[in-house]
Amino acid sequence: MTRATILIVDDEISNIEIMNAVLEDDYEVCFSTSGEQALETARTTLPDLVLLDVLMPGIDGFEVCRQLKADPLLADIPVIFTTGLGDTADEMRGLSLGAIDYVTKPIQPAILRARVGNHVELKRLRDQLANMAVTDALTGLSNRRQMEKALHSETGRLARTGDWLSVIMIDIDFFKQFNDTYGHPAGDRCISMVASALTRAVKRASDLSARYGGEEFACILPGADPHGAQLVAQEIKLQVQSLNIPHERSQISPFITVSIGVASARCLPGMAADQWIGHADRQLYQSKHGGRNRITVAEFDNTAEYCPT
Ligand code: GH3
Ligand code: MG
Ligand code: MG
Repeated sequence: MTRATILIVDDEISNIEIMNAVLEDDYEVCFSTSGEQALETARTTLPDLVLLDVLMPGIDGFEVCRQLKADPLLADIPVIFTTGLGDTADEMRGLSLGAIDYVTKPIQPAILRARVGNHVELKRLRDQLANMAVTDALTGLSNRRQMEKALHSETGRLARTGDWLSVIMIDIDFFKQFNDTYGHPAGDRCISMVASALTRAVKRASDLSARYGGEEFACILPGADPHGAQLVAQEIKLQVQSLNIPHERSQISPFITVSIGVASARCLPGMAADQWIGHADRQLYQSKHGGRNRITVAEFDNTAEYCPT
């Protein structure tokens, strides 16, 4: 397990030194001596927890906390305030701004270690849950919900430049017969292997591969035109083919094959993201209808379905 990163923010170097001595054996520690610097460091290092001094010249701890909580990228990072004994009003204010806890100065090493440990562990569990909510358990790919969310945000983003977006839908051929012949556990293994073939074929960092349903997969390719998307689809088909998974009851091949539908369009403001799914699904149907183990690509003109919000 990688070590968690703790950001210590305090305008007094001696306080930073004390806290660092307590934490450095168990965590990666970075520090800032001002509010401004803290916000900058938080954005670049994305720490797992922030220990935040309240009183600092310039931007104080409360304001740093407010800005962290207002930034979607940083809002989930737990903030522990470090404050003088007996500042009840300060504690209330900090908690109302979204801080998760307090430790009082002078620092008691055992207390600091325990509180930081607890909150780092809770953060790890929260991250794990959040990850599970967007991941398909069998394949490790994104799940359908995550894919639809990504499609919405990508179409919105690309609409600003009128750029291309392509969606690929993939469905395993004669999979019902595969399950019937080899059993459901073998079917599950087959789905996992097809997912890994997909991962090998879809390589750009901005691309997303998802398990869309049972034995159906979908890829979002931001910036890909029909030709580019077709090349990716060909690579997917090739990668699945080279898995060489025997399928004696397939009517078209001794091995597992997939049918693929591709839909490409330029993004426009206000259009519905699910058009790509609908069009890719229709192309997938064409591939099935045309004999399976093939790719059908269509460029669609979404101005016809343009519905400004
Ligand atoms: P086609 O070539 O037309 O796609 O035929 P098909 O048999 O693949 O299509 P159909 O949609 O009729 O069957 C899909 C099968 O996939 C049925 C279902 O039992 C199986 N399936 C769906 N999800 C899972 C899963 O998670 N694990 C396993 N092993 N099988 C699954
Ligand atoms: Mg299906
Ligand atoms: Mg199928």
